[in-house]
Amino acid sequence: MLCSNETLALMKELTQAVGVSGQERQVCRILARHYEALADEIVRDNNGSIYAVKHSSAPDPFRVMVAAHSDEVGLVVRQIRPNGLLKASVIGGLYDEVLPGSRLRLITDEGREFRGCVSSLAQKMLRERVTSSRIPLGLLYLDFGFTSEADARAQGVLEGCQVVIDGPFEVLNGGKRLLSKAWDDRFGCILGVELLQALKGVELPFDLYVGADVQEEVGLRGAKTAANLVEPDLAIVLDCTAANDVEGFEPPTGGIGQGIMVRFNDGTYLPNRTMFLDYLALLREKGIPYQMHESRGGTDAGAINLSAQAVPTLTACICARNVHTGSLMIDAEDYLHCVEAVTAFVSGLDRTKLERYRSNNF
Ligand SMILES: [Zn+2]
Repeated sequence: MLCSNETLALMKELTQAVGVSGQERQVCRILARHYEALADEIVRDNNGSIYAVKHSSAPDPFRVMVAAHSDEVGLVVRQIRPNGLLKASVIGGLYDEVLPGSRLRLITDEGREFRGCVSSLAQKMLRERVTSSRIPLGLLYLDFGFTSEADARAQGVLEGCQVVIDGPFEVLNGGKRLLSKAWDDRFGCILGVELLQALKGVELPFDLYVGADVQEEVGLRGAKTAANLVEPDLAIVLDCTAANDVEGFEPPTGGIGQGIMVRFNDGTYLPNRTMFLDYLALLREKGIPYQMHESRGGTDAGAINLSAQAVPTLTACICARNVHTGSLMIDAEDYLHCVEAVTAFVSGLDRTKLERYRSNNF
């Protein structure tokens, strides 16, 4: 099972867009363009979270929210040095270890893009200065080829400009594996578009909101205001979680190509158990491979679940190697299985199920 050329094109477009938390406009604009062709309406909150709305003709429809996040971890410019090199601050859970030698992309506020790399002291000097194998951010400089501070500023570089670790989109092994930056969580953004495509022309007994929250990587911030915007009765959160399979794997971590991740517990939320069991039954019935998954981290489910008077919530994830670097590796079948699972689960929802989920603990 391989992704179609249309899916691969969508993947390339969305993973290669740059959207460090707080500056997700490139991603949001691409999503808006796709949503326009697939939705009845597009809604946004004032931080940029964006949702496509597919209205139901049922009287008094309930609301289902399918949420991904548009942002990615990265860096922002903190200081421009007299020699034109830049110092940076980290946005989200990006580890210094992955930075030395990395290729970078910087986007100015006017949208100009610069390519560069992380530069540091010569190896011999580094060894004298650094005792551990980890080179601290303080000894790393962002190098975009600017020859002086004035040169950088004249070209639009300013404190707070976003920078990502570059990672081109590559189709590997005849399409079985897909390598790129930002699968976390453009995976969910892409799945959302394909969910809308799959449900085009299908009459649903609820209003369907499919979209992407900003600022997940800095503490599920966008999901809080997005939940205020959508006011969902039920939510499904799409995210990409860390695989840990390079030396074999044991639950609760995952292996790529070993099935979609069924998250029964994480640090920020507990799934609605009735909804969780329904989802599991559906995966078994359809023969969709899955892995039981527990995470120490969280997703936007943590914020959406706790909005209003609590929202029955489920996460639908796949895993990737090298999460929060420029080289995330996913398996094409995991992606396709997740599309199948989410599409089947969403299209099977009705008011009876919603009431069962709501009364899970009654
Ligand atoms: Zn994520």
